[in-house]
Amino acid sequence: MHRVTLLLGGNRGDMSATLKRAIELLGERVGEVVAASQIYRSEAWGFHATEPFSNQAVILATTLEAEALLNATQSIEADLGRDRESELREKASTGERYCSRTMDIDIMFYDDEVISTPRLTVPHPLMQQREFALEPMCELEGERLHPVLGRTLDDLLKELRD
Ligand code: ATP
Ligand code: MG
Ligand code: MG
Repeated sequence: MHRVTLLLGGNRGDMSATLKRAIELLGERVGEVVAASQIYRSEAWGFHATEPFSNQAVILATTLEAEALLNATQSIEADLGRDRESELREKASTGERYCSRTMDIDIMFYDDEVISTPRLTVPHPLMQQREFALEPMCELEGERLHPVLGRTLDDLLKELRD
């Protein structure tokens, strides 16, 4: 069994309903939901958006290998209304790196594995720069050691805020 930490987020539509549904689908398709953080709201990171983001960290126990997990999370994103084609068009027209979305599910940790493939970088390479990721993760596992950075999540969050 593998223990994985996911970060869910979005800023389009009824986010508390979409997050709830995402966690239900993760429970059906990925594995047992071990823990879920509160929902945290914050301003968009990395691009301009009028709607704030809602984020939630979730820990699951799963038998899926990492790439299969990514397939499952991407299909849940699509089922919750994420349309990558229209996002590409929107990003092309705004020139920004990110755009609004109904549901993004990123793999923060997969056990303590360090993965680097064309489709997958784990631990997620930007978590240490993102308060919206670290804050919900710290609620669940602040004392966890980041396998690459060698610091706890609590330390990474404190450092980011300082
Ligand atoms: P960011 O990674 O900066 O949060 P994003 O979540 O908006 O960006 P997406 O459009 O959701 O980016 O995904 C782009 C690609 O990122 C996916 O097709 C996937 O293959 C890849 N990817 C690499 N590492 C991960 C990871 N740890 N979790 C989820 N997707 C990943
Ligand atoms: Mg993301
Ligand atoms: Mg993503």
